[in-house]
Amino acid sequence: MNGFKMKLEIKQLVKNYGSFTALDHISYTFENGIYALLGPNGAGKSTFMNILAMLLKETQGEIILDGKPLVKQKKSFLNMLGYMPQQQCLYEDFTLKDFMYYIGNLKGMKKQEIISRSQYLVKEVKLEDVFYKKLSAFSGGMKQRAMLAATLINDPKILILDEPTAGLDPMKRMEMQNMIAIFAKDKIVLIATHVVSDVEFISSKFIFLKEGHIILQGDRISILECLDQKVKEREITIEEYQKYKQANIVSSIYYRHDKLFARIIDDHDEYSGEVITPEISDVYFYLFRDEKDAVL
Ligand code: ADP
Repeated sequence: MNGFKMKLEIKQLVKNYGSFTALDHISYTFENGIYALLGPNGAGKSTFMNILAMLLKETQGEIILDGKPLVKQKKSFLNMLGYMPQQQCLYEDFTLKDFMYYIGNLKGMKKQEIISRSQYLVKEVKLEDVFYKKLSAFSGGMKQRAMLAATLINDPKILILDEPTAGLDPMKRMEMQNMIAIFAKDKIVLIATHVVSDVEFISSKFIFLKEGHIILQGDRISILECLDQKVKEREITIEEYQKYKQANIVSSIYYRHDKLFARIIDDHDEYSGEVITPEISDVYFYLFRDEKDAVL
């Protein structure tokens, strides 16, 4: 069967908080696929997602779903939306069952539909054994999976995830990434994060947001082109590392066979080293290296 196809167009979106402009004429078109919204804290990611989820009103601009303004189809849009916010909005006293049924009810689903979706989803997120347990007893990773399951209760066609792997250990992060990749079929999925490794391999498109502007966007190949021939690997000493770090050109360092290596971004061909294939994390470093809280 051919999948469900959608088109969500963002046109000249502006959001001002008083005199401060958090989003400055953002235009972008989403079609089915996984999109990574990348940028450091304060870039405007949450503002953008909250507007898409209709929790926040834009100052200017328009959002159009399949040719029709969103404001004219708010109810049907909200029924096809799943939004997983950053803070864990969990009612700790609820059991997982209560929580999922509660969210299903809020979404206006029929009882039988809630029951069958819950049964399916708790298995998918590997929480079927704790379906009748209180959320207060869940670990961080379990809570995050419970949130994802509840977000998916209405089989949303548009899924917005704000830092879905925040606070998880590396294994749990990978598990979450895999789940998202599986659930993403035939949907528009937008994942906001400042942790590149969480989205590097599951996203088909990347949107880099800085100070309310999209400064770079595209698929993996086109994004990596901006650093073509500019990423070099070289063995370094600790002293050299300090020097390069001062120059703000070290994307990452690692040991290999007891030797220290650095990936450096060499914009002007000033340094020696072996030219290597860029990665999305190099691009992130390149774009945001002047930001204090850039996390790779
Ligand atoms: P991100 O999610 O990328 O960290 P946000 O969308 O939360 O970015 O914030 C973008 C900018 O807007 C930041 O400078 C933030 O301080 C500012 N901002 C966010 N919410 C408000 C608000 N309610 N009032 C004033 N400024 C805000």
